[in-house]
Amino acid sequence: MLVDGGKIARVGAATDQAPDGAVVVDLAGKTLLPGLVDAHVHVTSFDLPATLKGEAPVAPEVKHHFIASGLRAMLAMGITSLRDVGAFGDDLLHARRAIELGAFAGPRVLACGRILSATSPGGAHFSGMYREADGPDEMRKATREQIRRGADFVKIMTTGARSVALEDPEPAQVTRAELATVVEEAHRLGFRVAAHCEGLDGTRLAIEEGVDTIEHGLELHRAPELLAALAESRRVLVPTLSCFFDLSETHACLWLPRLVEQAKRQREEAHRTVEAARAAGVRMAMGFDSLPHGGSALELVRLWEAGLTSLEAIAAGTSVAAAACGLDEQVGSIEAGKLADLLAVDGDPVEDPRVLLDPQRIWLVLQSGRPVAGTALTREPA
Ligand SMILES: [Zn+2]
Repeated sequence: MLVDGGKIARVGAATDQAPDGAVVVDLAGKTLLPGLVDAHVHVTSFDLPATLKGEAPVAPEVKHHFIASGLRAMLAMGITSLRDVGAFGDDLLHARRAIELGAFAGPRVLACGRILSATSPGGAHFSGMYREADGPDEMRKATREQIRRGADFVKIMTTGARSVALEDPEPAQVTRAELATVVEEAHRLGFRVAAHCEGLDGTRLAIEEGVDTIEHGLELHRAPELLAALAESRRVLVPTLSCFFDLSETHACLWLPRLVEQAKRQREEAHRTVEAARAAGVRMAMGFDSLPHGGSALELVRLWEAGLTSLEAIAAGTSVAAAACGLDEQVGSIEAGKLADLLAVDGDPVEDPRVLLDPQRIWLVLQSGRPVAGTALTREPA
């Protein structure tokens, strides 16, 4: 494979001659794959380190540095692009700008601005992350506001969230007219729409009204006709298995017991949906929706454990995730003409995708042809 001018110029045979002056990188024993793409992250959703009483206070501006280090951690694990589906205030937009200006190397960031939502308990719970709006006209204005703010796509809550005690994630939280207006407005202006969908009624509205990606969608196994509609239209489901593990297992001790029980049931359903979606031919993307930043490949591994083949799971973390982001013309596969966002990993993730979890095996990460991370850069020469 020849990289030139930040792009993949040619994919040839191993025996092909490198052009004069080319830097030759030998990948014996390694696997070259497209850079990973996380289709569902919340870059700014972390707590700052706790301080003891009497310690100096932590100024809010300190958070920007932690946001930057989270983004760098993702790049270090081979995540070269991400789609952030909800951030507090404009912090992420500032980080995206800082990366563009070369302040630090980070993944390609797609941001949604604020999440559109009906007036809801979540709006109070996630203060600064939601733009509440009621009725089609307000929804239209709220959509336009995100574009004004610099959003790359639009995100809407069609149901409540599993993580908010005052919300029931089952019923639809927006009306059909509200959702249709958001989709119409966004699409007319050339923006894609992602929908948070837990209960089936909101999921159904999202699919019927032409939303581009279904986030969570865990109850879809109950509605084969909706899975068929997704498969037929080649729209992407982002199952986010990890967020259910997080709430029901990994961080269960931090959550209200009722929400932990709910998450256990949802985790079951999400797994059944992955199976049913695979059988129906629905494209599924890796969306970690959890912490720590950089751990996204755990979602890829969980999709594999849930029944995807290793190659399907790798596609979920590369080409399909790129499609979910609307970036598939630029990244997500190794083809001439695409940007050289690449990951060389020590070992064979087709044999065992868990190699992608090991920082020591992330050998080289290229972004637009530029080496940005990997043990090849950081290890002392022997
Ligand atoms: Zn999320």
